[in-house]
Amino acid sequence: YSGKKKEQQLSENMMNMKVRDFQSIPVVVHESLSVYDAITQMFLEDVGTLIVVDEKSFLSGILSRKDLLRTAIGTTELEKIPVHMIMTRMPNISYCKKNETLVQAAKLLIERQIDALPVVESTDGGLAVVGRLTKTNITKAFLSLAENHDF
Ligand code: ADP
Repeated sequence: YSGKKKEQQLSENMMNMKVRDFQSIPVVVHESLSVYDAITQMFLEDVGTLIVVDEKSFLSGILSRKDLLRTAIGTTELEKIPVHMIMTRMPNISYCKKNETLVQAAKLLIERQIDALPVVESTDGGLAVVGRLTKTNITKAFLSLAENHDF
């Protein structure tokens, strides 16, 4: 292959990378969970972002490390505060769908200055959470692109 062909192949491979191929399992908590338990859950699951759902299991909010830290330094009774009081809530949540390209998802992460996107499917009652896409997933994809490329 010529250099040009290889370059074309690389960009084609890049645009073929889909959210579905690199997404992680969603780590989800219920709106009524306490901030204290959410912090515990974040450590146990070893994630930086927790996705919050309502009683029907539809997407309702998102919790970052800093959301929890901010609350932890300002409050004493963390067991008594439900996460729905401090989370970023719908309709202000940025999300993606599994058939979107990784490039679209990466653009959203950078534009909104966030670390993670819930991967959702639209249903009649709301957005069902089917995955989680983070900057780590994008970094892995970047690496796989380099590893599959014959320079
Ligand atoms: P951190 O706050 O730990 O730096 P982020 O940069 O991901 O982590 O989060 C920044 C803020 O944006 C937080 O208040 C968080 O609730 C919110 N946030 C995180 N992810 C999303 C998202 N997908 N859509 C909307 N808001 C989000």
